[in-house]
Amino acid sequence: MGRLDGKIALCTASAQGIGLATVLESLPRKAFVKEGARVIATDINISKLEQKVKDVPGIEAKMLNVADKDQVTSLVDQLDRVDILFNCAGIVPNGTILDCEEADWDQTMNINLKSMYFLCRAVLPKMVAQGSGSIVNMSSSVSNVKGAPMRFVYSVSKGGVSGLTKAIAADFVSKGIRCNCICPAAVETPSLQERINASPDPVKARAAFVQKVGRIGKPEEIAALAVYLASDESGYTTGQELVIDGGWGLA
Ligand code: NAD
Repeated sequence: MGRLDGKIALCTASAQGIGLATVLESLPRKAFVKEGARVIATDINISKLEQKVKDVPGIEAKMLNVADKDQVTSLVDQLDRVDILFNCAGIVPNGTILDCEEADWDQTMNINLKSMYFLCRAVLPKMVAQGSGSIVNMSSSVSNVKGAPMRFVYSVSKGGVSGLTKAIAADFVSKGIRCNCICPAAVETPSLQERINASPDPVKARAAFVQKVGRIGKPEEIAALAVYLASDESGYTTGQELVIDGGWGLA
């Protein structure tokens, strides 16, 4: 018996990294589809997503730009019910406030935060009608949890995810709906590798990074927490920021 049997999960940013690990089985951990959920996996990069999930029973791939309100509304309108909403999409711009032009601010806020407003607002009426639902939002340790250099607008957006999570949790707890967010430190994903590759000496940059944060997490380790939060096992947990950082925050 799966921990998510009979549940319908709408997931964003499913083509790679944490989003992909969360929808697909990634041994030895179990992810949404392996635990019995019917998954609507979405990404702006539909060709990559289709390539990754084709022929996997229980997963349907759909194109979704999370920053586009009309796309969000029209996709959610097609679904009879949504038991789990996994808001994973996010970008990681580099720089201080002085590097952050207004266009950078708007783009980051739109993809990392406003998208969650669109998705939660579209899905919540269905969850209210069902009398149940679990929303899992992807935040970061780099947020209101902890400051890190060169992550100005990213930190602001992820701090906003925390506020959005707690506000929704407080407003909908009486309707049987839970809302939590996950705050990972560094996780081994394609975009992390791209950020390391962008430095003049990627080998040195990786070593310095590991020295700073400790061990880099695996996407499956984050997926395992997402499964727990999505499942009824976490039925007494809502409005929480779950920090998963290998101890980085202890330093
Ligand atoms: P990633 O950055 O490697 O991939 C992101 C995915 O999001 C890609 O498939 C991309 O196509 C998709 N995407 C980008 N813009 C989109 C949009 N507008 N609409 C829909 N999809 C879009 O993935 P990752 O590193 O696993 O990051 C996933 C989430 O986890 C992000 O919210 C990120 O901030 C958060 N996070 C990552 C780390 C890390 O170290 N990797 C740490 C903490 C938090």
